[in-house]
Amino acid sequence: MIDNFGRDINYFRVSVTDRCNLRCLYCMPRVGVPKKRHEDILSLELIYKICQSAVALGIKKIRLTGGEPLIRKNIVRLVRDLAGLKRFGLRELTMTTNAVLLAQYASELKAAGLDRVNISLDSLREEKFTDITGRAGAMREAQAGLRAALEAGLSPVKVNVVLIGGVNEDEIEDFVNLTREEGVEVRFIELMPLGEAGAWEKARFIPNTEVLRRVPRLVPIAGRRGGMVARLYRLPEAAGTVGLISPLSSHFCAECNRIRLTPDGKLKPCLHSAEELDFRAYGENRLSEFLSDGIRRKPDRHMMRDSNFVPVARKMHEIGG
Ligand code: SAM
Ligand code: SF4
Repeated sequence: MIDNFGRDINYFRVSVTDRCNLRCLYCMPRVGVPKKRHEDILSLELIYKICQSAVALGIKKIRLTGGEPLIRKNIVRLVRDLAGLKRFGLRELTMTTNAVLLAQYASELKAAGLDRVNISLDSLREEKFTDITGRAGAMREAQAGLRAALEAGLSPVKVNVVLIGGVNEDEIEDFVNLTREEGVEVRFIELMPLGEAGAWEKARFIPNTEVLRRVPRLVPIAGRRGGMVARLYRLPEAAGTVGLISPLSSHFCAECNRIRLTPDGKLKPCLHSAEELDFRAYGENRLSEFLSDGIRRKPDRHMMRDSNFVPVARKMHEIGG
């Protein structure tokens, strides 16, 4: 469906839970995460119906996210059901995961119809990984998940890295070197002033130009973009690519093609705006209206760099990153 600014909205990011088995520094507080009531969370059946309506409206790509999608019970069943929408116009079904449970699920997910995964990995050093995520042993689990994803053919596997000043910017080169491995694409995502990072000091926000400064051997890949938002580069001898996703240092709102669904049934026309449409105000019989109203309300651009920008109160794990 085309929105008011002529953009074709064809990408639906669906968060299936606000809960997580990690506590990344910038995303969730270490303790005291309020639990949503079970009855406030959309059932898998409803999530499926909303996605079905979305595909009928022209959505071509669905990404499952969270919180951590792999901790949602019966997630493989949802993947299987959603993969059935490929007969009705869905072209790609993907997931963003921290990969801690992926070694267990990768081949089942692939068999159920998942096309690819994006894996969030903010350090390749065990101690630092534990500091960032708050969970000892998580790096080994996530790396086993990454290997399982490659073996299952959930590729290209995109590794998402959020750079945090003073924490992991010294690993930029190590991450770039991961692209020497077949089937791995590394994407550096600029930290956004959301969630726990909402009030962080400026020095922690590293612009993606730092990646190019530290690894000048990266060459731009002419004419290729990684989806809507990533600018792609490559080491001359590497199999995989490096993507730079720069929501802060360069607006990509003019090309924004996505809407988001939160686990408690709110449609977010823009990640960075507080505006939400509540599924419950529409009900199961007006799903198409719910989605098209959301698409119509997409703003032309985000306000994150405006001096009077107020960070959205919702956290990334509640919205779905
Ligand atoms: N738990 C899954 C994971 O970590 O991949 C999926 C949900 S997580 C919220 C999705 C993505 O959002 C992750 O790649 C995470 O690094 C990113 N994210 C969370 N908070 C962020 C922030 N303040 N700025 C930039 N990216 C953020
Ligand atoms: Fe969990 Fe993902 Fe947030 Fe980390 S970024 S706390 S893995 S939801």
